[in-house]
Amino acid sequence: MAQRTSLAMVQTAPRTLEAQSLPIPEIDDDSALMRVEACGICGSDYEQYEGVIRAPMPAVPGHEPLGIVEAIGDRAAKRWGVDVGDRIAVETMLSCRFCDNCLGGRYHLCNDRRIYSYIPLSDAPGLWGAYAEFMFVHGNSIVHKMDKSLPAEIAVMFNPLGAGFRWAVEVPKTGPGDTVVILGPGQRGLSSVLACKNAGAGKIIVTGLAADAEKLRVAKAFGAHYTIDVENQNAKEK
Ligand SMILES: [Zn+2]
Ligand SMILES: [Zn+2]
Repeated sequence: MAQRTSLAMVQTAPRTLEAQSLPIPEIDDDSALMRVEACGICGSDYEQYEGVIRAPMPAVPGHEPLGIVEAIGDRAAKRWGVDVGDRIAVETMLSCRFCDNCLGGRYHLCNDRRIYSYIPLSDAPGLWGAYAEFMFVHGNSIVHKMDKSLPAEIAVMFNPLGAGFRWAVEVPKTGPGDTVVILGPGQRGLSSVLACKNAGAGKIIVTGLAADAEKLRVAKAFGAHYTIDVENQNAKEK
């Protein structure tokens, strides 16, 4: 590709994001370069921005990336089943793939795990976050091919939707008729409502604060049977 550098927002200090131009790396057999279309904003992104979580700096934030494969190594293309021009979503976690946890499918518990957006610029090639034009996709990434016909702002919801399904259905094995209580109507709580609804849950209860009134209304629209404002209603009685 002709372009040699990528625009990236680099967090250099708490509450400080700087536009910088970072070199675009050469791609080896196992990795890829993604042209970022959109990046979800996680609750932790704000904490990272404020500096309350101990994330390394300087670093490029953004770990819920959606984009188009710009360049890819042959082995990576084979392993991930994607090629140049395909739309992909990249999971947050980079695990070692070889420890007991990784081999047992619990890659999120890998002792050597790294997380996109929490890897400093000093760790080559630096483009480890999606608040940028391009993101480096390391060979240990978990990559999902995404439907290109979806608008990017919808497709980028893959992370909270995936979390809702994993946390509220897959892990607790939610099935038809089950009662589920979801604490908090954030983007992952609301995604959990959608997931439980689709899994056939019989009773979906969502709790929230008084300030969450609008989100609790959305929870109902998504299929929650009951919502509880824990500041003004007694959850136990209700
Ligand atoms: Zn996140
Ligand atoms: Zn591992």
